[in-house]
Amino acid sequence: MSLPTENNTCRDCGSINTRKLRRRVIRNGAIQYVMQCQICGAGGNPIAKARALSMNNGAEPAAFDEEIRPTYDRERRAAFDQQRQESRHEFFEWYDQYLASPEWKERRRKVLLRAQGICEGCRDAAATEVHHLTYDNVGEEFLWQLVAICHECHERYHEADQARRGRIFLEEDQ
Ligand SMILES: [Zn+2]
Ligand SMILES: [Zn+2]
Ligand SMILES: [Zn+2]
Repeated sequence: MSLPTENNTCRDCGSINTRKLRRRVIRNGAIQYVMQCQICGAGGNPIAKARALSMNNGAEPAAFDEEIRPTYDRERRAAFDQQRQESRHEFFEWYDQYLASPEWKERRRKVLLRAQGICEGCRDAAATEVHHLTYDNVGEEFLWQLVAICHECHERYHEADQARRGRIFLEEDQ
């Protein structure tokens, strides 16, 4: 008897030929025979005992491995987090360069000029920093997406913003 080949793709992770017949003890102590993907740990539909044993040359299959799934999930999450870290790092590397570019300096100059050098947050203090209202067009900002503000207003905004969204402070706008 050979293993069925028609269902050799894991429906969960898409791996091919990674499913093996396993004997699983389910919650109420009952035994189930299932194909388990050795990559992601997913179990297929129960297979009748007689069929399962004949698929396995009459012998009991090995035990279902309950550890594959949590390990697989953990590793996937770690890979995802690392990927996100790397793109964040790449963004900030690019962003630092952008803030040093003539293009940014020119936009910054125009925004400060538009505010006549007075903070657009309080209209009291001198505007010394330029803040992004959005990063949608970062690198090619429309000038209405930028405001000229004082250091106190900038700090007050970002402290509140950070508390609200719980996200990383975007250090910008020197
Ligand atoms: Zn799988
Ligand atoms: Zn201000
Ligand atoms: Zn800002």
